[in-house]
Amino acid sequence: MLAGLLQLLLPAACAICRAPHEPGSDGIVCGSCLSRIVPLALPLCARCGHPRYSLAVPLAQEAPSGSAPSGIAPSGMSGPKRAAPCAWCPHLHPAIRAVRSVTRMDDGSGPALVHALKYQGWRGVAVAMGRRMARLSWPDDVLSERAALVPIPLSRTRLRERGYNQAQCLADAIAPMWHCPVWSDVLVRMRDTQSQVRLTPSERAVNVSRAFAVPQGRLAQLRGAHLVLVDDVVTTAATLNAAAEALVAGGARIVSAVTFGRAPDPGDRTAS
Ligand SMILES: [Zn+2]
Ligand SMILES: [Zn+2]
Repeated sequence: MLAGLLQLLLPAACAICRAPHEPGSDGIVCGSCLSRIVPLALPLCARCGHPRYSLAVPLAQEAPSGSAPSGIAPSGMSGPKRAAPCAWCPHLHPAIRAVRSVTRMDDGSGPALVHALKYQGWRGVAVAMGRRMARLSWPDDVLSERAALVPIPLSRTRLRERGYNQAQCLADAIAPMWHCPVWSDVLVRMRDTQSQVRLTPSERAVNVSRAFAVPQGRLAQLRGAHLVLVDDVVTTAATLNAAAEALVAGGARIVSAVTFGRAPDPGDRTAS
């Protein structure tokens, strides 16, 4: 009876490629689609988790800015080198310690997984996505300090329309693997913000500024904590920054963030 019920609840075909599921499959997305999640190109920046534009810049022969699009030092060049500054870190709020993401949003099956979770009602796909988010590597201090996962809240209107918060589904999937609680009520969205999809980076920052707040009754809980924000995708970091700002104003000491997808920047190296 249970197997029959599961057959009713689960799709007969993969939610992404529509290929019929193998008999006995308990998934929403097929193994082939899951294997096409493209990881971010290594090496990643230790803080923001973005693919490094360049590996190292020789101290003596630093190229003038703009002369080499990739910034990669010519091969064979020896001598002391320093790590090139990360181009993505300056986007982040100073209280953000580290950000990690699973995949790029312009390649592989990652974008289709996010679409299935957010717009097609397949909330169960968050389990496979969260499992991959939980396996990302972090600096040691994040591993030892993280106190709780905090999903980016949706506005009440958006929550009513969608019926669930996709970030909450992802946090719930990560929590058992991290042995970490999910604190869903420490951050609230104060007002309905416009969808970020068609906005420029500066419009996004204005759109979400002061969009979040910590309820009075949760201030004591946050004091001194290192919290990990959870969202489906990071694009300009405007949402993460606004949420981090509210958490720190509410007493948190430091904030990290984990997302499934990451919008690419022009000039990124690719892994595929
Ligand atoms: Zn598939
Ligand atoms: Zn960085």
